[in-house]
Amino acid sequence: NELPVDKDNTNDVRKVFDACFSFVNPTPTSNPKLIHTSNEVAEIIGIIKNDILSKEFLNVFTGNKILVNTKPYAMCYGGHQFGNWAGQLGDGRAINLFEVENNNQKYTLQLKGAGKTPYSRNADGLAVLRSSIREYLCAEAMYYLGVPTTRSLSLSVTGDQVLRDIMYNGNPAFEKGAVVCRVAPSFIRFGNFEIFAARNDLKTLQELTDFTIKHYFSEIKIDGIEKYISFFKTVCDTTLKMIIEWQRVGFVHGVMNTDNMSIHGLTIDYGPYGWLEDYNPDWTPNTTDNQHKRYRFGNQPEIALWNLYQLANALYPLVNEAKPFEDILNSYQTEYETKYLEMMKGKLGITLNLETDIKLIYQLTELLTVKETDMTIFFRLLSKIEKEDNQEQAFSKVSPAFYQLDEIKDEFLKDWNIWLNDYIERIKQENLSDSGRKQKMDATNPKYVLRNYMAQIAIDAADKEDYTVINELYTLLQNPYDEQPEKEKWFAKRPDWAREKIGCSM
Ligand code: AMP
Ligand code: MG
Ligand code: MG
Repeated sequence: NELPVDKDNTNDVRKVFDACFSFVNPTPTSNPKLIHTSNEVAEIIGIIKNDILSKEFLNVFTGNKILVNTKPYAMCYGGHQFGNWAGQLGDGRAINLFEVENNNQKYTLQLKGAGKTPYSRNADGLAVLRSSIREYLCAEAMYYLGVPTTRSLSLSVTGDQVLRDIMYNGNPAFEKGAVVCRVAPSFIRFGNFEIFAARNDLKTLQELTDFTIKHYFSEIKIDGIEKYISFFKTVCDTTLKMIIEWQRVGFVHGVMNTDNMSIHGLTIDYGPYGWLEDYNPDWTPNTTDNQHKRYRFGNQPEIALWNLYQLANALYPLVNEAKPFEDILNSYQTEYETKYLEMMKGKLGITLNLETDIKLIYQLTELLTVKETDMTIFFRLLSKIEKEDNQEQAFSKVSPAFYQLDEIKDEFLKDWNIWLNDYIERIKQENLSDSGRKQKMDATNPKYVLRNYMAQIAIDAADKEDYTVINELYTLLQNPYDEQPEKEKWFAKRPDWAREKIGCSM
């Protein structure tokens, strides 16, 4: 067989057998520079402010220094990719540095793009600046939106060149290499369990599950079969919660493979993700998923459930009974419907339960799709409508959300007027005042999200070593629900040049 262990601690790529993880050190980088650090993340893991500016911080979080008594490692996992079992994958470009405990919370610090690991297969283990900026900013933006997510500690350029594409003239297109340090309780994925079930290695499967529960799900106190069922139920609950939040803010992950599903119900692995601009449930930002659109916005709840089925299959040997899993999975469907309705009512600013609410919401989501309508802008402006408004007043308040206002007026004004009228009648039945409702709605419907074109402007500037836009977006997105009058330019529809989806090969 091929080498089972990395004897001399080189980062050789090889087939690893029977492993749970492999020790591997990051590859040193030639000229690392820190571009951005999240002071808040540093603080929650207990890094003091002065240390952020130290040489040691830079070296540790670009992989140039290994802290004493730590042993970095890459994890082994499998996964279902686009609906098919893909076998063993593993951390091909992620390396766990160490774990920190602070204020009774556990944090794993992981570098992404710090060089080859035994799981890199035929890829380089590196990340380019472009995709690293996208991951770094989006994870933090999601956190401040209230969406469960991994966090970003630092973003650095490595000083090394990375080859991603061959240009049409046959010349190699080099890009700047970068490393992100990201943070989560752990980076355990559904795929970590699937790989042992696939290998029929029940001993390690049980060991991993017991380990995960003991360290990260310590609220589960029962033993035996019940423990595993309770664990699975918790994962279903947190996953469902995450998906509802994605649907609320219009986030499309783009690659919901089971190896990209965190066991903690956190959004993980920001690749070709995108935000709905025009409200289109069929949209996916992932150009490689264009044909079947498996990971389209409107399909995310269904896919999360499909992925949970795969996790259930993986855990099944620990329980040997299908029914408890089936019951939990069946309740996902009804719970989703309840939670989705609750979430959408929040977006509309309605709190009482009326029978007509489902219809009102359904009609709105249909109407939003007839002609390009900006989801973020629409819901943000909806809170301006008042009980005493007439249809025209209401329409003019939301009309900046339409990309082709004239066509809406020509073809759909009547439909919009009917809906707006129903909406005004509906909010009249609530006990909330106009301003009370607006306040609630504005805490649910963000004003600022990380639109693709915004990330692209930050990327283009960063490519010229101008990191001011990264900084600006970072601060903007720390308060996504606040009015930020001096930053109003980011509350705007996607410009025409950004209509064609920006390429996002990673
Ligand atoms: P993803 O679709 O980004 O979640 O990646 C799927 C698998 O490919 C994971 O096992 C990754 O670790 C691996 N992978 C992606 N990009 C690279 C890269 N540049 N070098 C090594 N492995 C990679
Ligand atoms: Mg991944
Ligand atoms: Mg990825």
